[in-house]
Amino acid sequence: MNIRTTAPSIPFRQPPHFRTLVVSSFAALFVLSGSVSAAGQGSLGEPGVSGGVVTTSEPLAAEAGATILRRGGNAIDAAIAVMFALNVLEPQSAGIGGGGFMMVHRATGPKKTFVIDSRETAPAASTVNMFQGQNFGLASTSGLSVGVPGAVRGAELALNNWGTMSLAQVLQPAIQLAAGGFRVSSRLEESITSTRLSSELGNPAYDEARKVFRPGGVALVEGDFLVQPALAATLQLIADHGADAFYTGPLAETIVATQQNYRGANSQLAGRMSLADLSNYEAAVREPVVGDYRGYRIVGMPPPSSGGLAVIQMLKMMERFPLGDESKGYGFGSARTMNVMIESMRLAFADRAVWMGDADFVDVPVKGLLSDAYIAQRSALIDPDTRQANVMADDPWPFELAGKKSPWQLAAVNRADPPGGGTTHFSVSDANGNIVSYTNTIESAWGTGLMVPGYGFLLNNELTDFNFTPQANPDPANYDPGANDVAPFKRPRSSMAPTMIFKNSQQPLAAYGSPGGSTIINTVLNVTLNLIDHGRTIQEAIDLPRLSQTSANGTPSFEYGFPEASVQALRDIGHNPGATFDLGSVQAVVIGTGKSQYGAADKRRIGGVVSVSPDEIIKDGPGRKR
Ligand code: GLU
Repeated sequence: MNIRTTAPSIPFRQPPHFRTLVVSSFAALFVLSGSVSAAGQGSLGEPGVSGGVVTTSEPLAAEAGATILRRGGNAIDAAIAVMFALNVLEPQSAGIGGGGFMMVHRATGPKKTFVIDSRETAPAASTVNMFQGQNFGLASTSGLSVGVPGAVRGAELALNNWGTMSLAQVLQPAIQLAAGGFRVSSRLEESITSTRLSSELGNPAYDEARKVFRPGGVALVEGDFLVQPALAATLQLIADHGADAFYTGPLAETIVATQQNYRGANSQLAGRMSLADLSNYEAAVREPVVGDYRGYRIVGMPPPSSGGLAVIQMLKMMERFPLGDESKGYGFGSARTMNVMIESMRLAFADRAVWMGDADFVDVPVKGLLSDAYIAQRSALIDPDTRQANVMADDPWPFELAGKKSPWQLAAVNRADPPGGGTTHFSVSDANGNIVSYTNTIESAWGTGLMVPGYGFLLNNELTDFNFTPQANPDPANYDPGANDVAPFKRPRSSMAPTMIFKNSQQPLAAYGSPGGSTIINTVLNVTLNLIDHGRTIQEAIDLPRLSQTSANGTPSFEYGFPEASVQALRDIGHNPGATFDLGSVQAVVIGTGKSQYGAADKRRIGGVVSVSPDEIIKDGPGRKR
């Protein structure tokens, strides 16, 4: 495959908050062919041998994970430590008031890749039409949109089964950061001043977060010292008494009371979560979805996310096009490559809108959607030089169940999800080769904006990921399964896409993911193509400008930096692309040859990479066990 050597015509924009703070990293010159530059050998005790890598969007969180690795913890322990630390450092994006998907690859014992699903669930009292007709802005800042938080149960499940440390041990760095304080970052400053926290609502429930981040009515700015005693006490409570202290008792009672608040005057927007919803919450362990692309195995997030299915569908639809070959008019940033990407996105997002949802509640035709025959049928609709006039979902069921003929005609849909502003992705590897790729979220930036009084964490607004208007339609002439309609206990469809790439289906090469609402899927696609088709290093693959379309018949967005001629060519064939800033924020680890490991973080946020030397690891630490 060819590597593009010419620079894009427009210099890649560096956002105002550009500050890649690399605590201790190596030049990530690894490319997926498996070659590793000597620069990667750095100052490690033994050349090319790693004690583990942690990559996060906030440098101090990477340091928190590295602390756990140095104490002998494994990648699972370190990832949970990062998850808690990010609640302190990046509270607008993620934390214990939300949930996420933790993809784990275990290198020791029977090798296995699986996902711990701590996605929020709809309360028992949810109804299919509870969001119907509601104003999105009001609903997404009201208790009605709060899903039962899963992060703490997910952490407990991960540590109990695959960790080597206790909740109390991995919580220590986060407790220290919350109790001891840290300097506010540029990104946190930006978020405090530019979001829903900035306006007075006259409702004390919404003042709780303002008291922390705008003390005395004055927004914290970069460099200010932030201490969060209430959050520290909450984390200490979980450390002392386990996850039950979150899901039962006074903390649970305060969560229930907090989500009864709503913005505006419509009491229908009050939350419906009960104490029983909290105490009954269970995290789940799931098998990932898998697809092969140009000799690499792509391991993706299964339902309730649409992430893995959509990414793999798109890759496989594009496999027949030589995307890396400049001599054939392709290559990074060429109009042809961009058009094939957009057309694949349109087809995958059309299917996503109809078929994808929580597979514990609806039949999701996973096999059919990823079957070679169905993908070939979909891919045949793509012409590299033209735009499809109208993209529709198709029916994968005949490919799921051989011989089945569907009795229905699909309803036409053109639904696009609003892009998210919250969420964070981090990746961790350890000395034994265990890897974690974890996307954690409270949905929008600052979630609902509701902070649990006295406990210092924000409640998610994840239930806005459900269809606001129920879509189920059994009419055979206008069929829609309503895959993402609200139901009690159901998880809203996600786009989160923690991903891993393997060589020879066994050997892990890279782990990554991104925030960004439905654009997550396309960010992961862009990075995957940059690695596999364009032969870029992991850092280049992350840095390059990205392209995204999140609906069948909407318009594509592109980050600044693509050649203007290519953008014009897309316009000429009928796309209406619009420029945008900052699609996603990818944090990755890559496994090189031998025992080398590298990390890369995204300049679109702050980014922190810490590589741990084997010499730093306490030899008889608990992590040696797993
Ligand atoms: N709630 C979104 C999802 O699960 C993530 C939000 C975001 O990335 O901002 O797909």
